[in-house]
Amino acid sequence: MNHRLCITLILLAIFGLSGCDRNEPVYNSRFLAFGTLTDVSIVGVPREKAVAAVEALEKDFTIMNHAWHAWNPGPLTRTNKLLAEGKRFALPPSVLALMRKSAILANKSDHLFNPAIGRLIRLWGFQQDNPDNWQPPDAAAVEELVQANPSMDDIVIEDIHAQCSNPWVQLDFGAIGKGYGIDLAIEHLREMGINNAIVNSGGDLRAIGARGGHPWRIAIRGATGAGILGFLYVSGDESVFTSGNYERNYLWKGKVYHHIIDPRTGHPARGTRSVTVIHDDATTADAAATALFVAGPRDWQRIARQMGIKYVLLVDENNIVHMNPAMARRVQLMDKNQSVEISAPLMQDDHNNNP
Ligand code: AMP
Ligand code: MG
Repeated sequence: MNHRLCITLILLAIFGLSGCDRNEPVYNSRFLAFGTLTDVSIVGVPREKAVAAVEALEKDFTIMNHAWHAWNPGPLTRTNKLLAEGKRFALPPSVLALMRKSAILANKSDHLFNPAIGRLIRLWGFQQDNPDNWQPPDAAAVEELVQANPSMDDIVIEDIHAQCSNPWVQLDFGAIGKGYGIDLAIEHLREMGINNAIVNSGGDLRAIGARGGHPWRIAIRGATGAGILGFLYVSGDESVFTSGNYERNYLWKGKVYHHIIDPRTGHPARGTRSVTVIHDDATTADAAATALFVAGPRDWQRIARQMGIKYVLLVDENNIVHMNPAMARRVQLMDKNQSVEISAPLMQDDHNNNP
């Protein structure tokens, strides 16, 4: 391999892509969505078609960001107000599907993924843009909310109507909205005749098709958010999502507080630094990465099985990388001396899963 090709491959890898067919045109574009940079890579269509597709996706993401924003006034804040009032009401269409999916995934995760804990997230200061105002809440206020136990099970959805029996329920789709948004974006790309693409939002992505017949090469973020922990290949249709405590956090009196809350304690989840999940659809991958982060190094396998997740990598607070056998077969870690623990198989065919 010549020197220039080698550098090109390294650069492509860093941006989550790789492929050997340099004749296949790749259109890359970047815009802001859900408060993070979103990269769209499209292969195998004329440039004008790719440009139009990215413009369409950017509009989609703007609409979704408005619909699901937890604190800027819009369909979700209106929904939250009506849920708290306890009356039966017609759900905004933009919220309905995400609510249904959230309820199913919350149940499968034993409510460790619990988008009904919006009040807790607000209490910890994470429902605002200005990090200067982030500070830990009063312990009694946290305990009051844990006792109130807001859950997706408190909401009855009938056709397009909803009614909530627990006034403490407030929805926050921070752990699933990006995943669902990426699924809708991929659906839209396919409708436009694009079958080889990656939609990558801040390192969380769904890849479809391939590039010149080669799988996409994906970088797994390190547990600090900086650097690369390892690589894996995806082709066909797969999503790779990471939840990490580095994403949103603050230092208060020498202690770090991060944004993934354990609904059982009301406090930031402990024991985990990051979790990477591979799954077919991005919605499930997103919710599962958050749920497994909360489940932690001792309980992640049980929750992964319940949620039907086949590939998990969890970095614990001691920097040990835990993987199930099928994930271990797919990941190439950067540091060959990294401490690794391979778990028992998650599924019957865990040893045999081929990428
Ligand atoms: P993620 O980065 O996908 O793990 O999502 C984290 C975001 O989801 C946080 O910023 C909160 O808005 C929200 N969140 C925090 N803890 C939970 C939880 N246990 N279940 C559901 N959503 C949560
Ligand atoms: Mg998530």
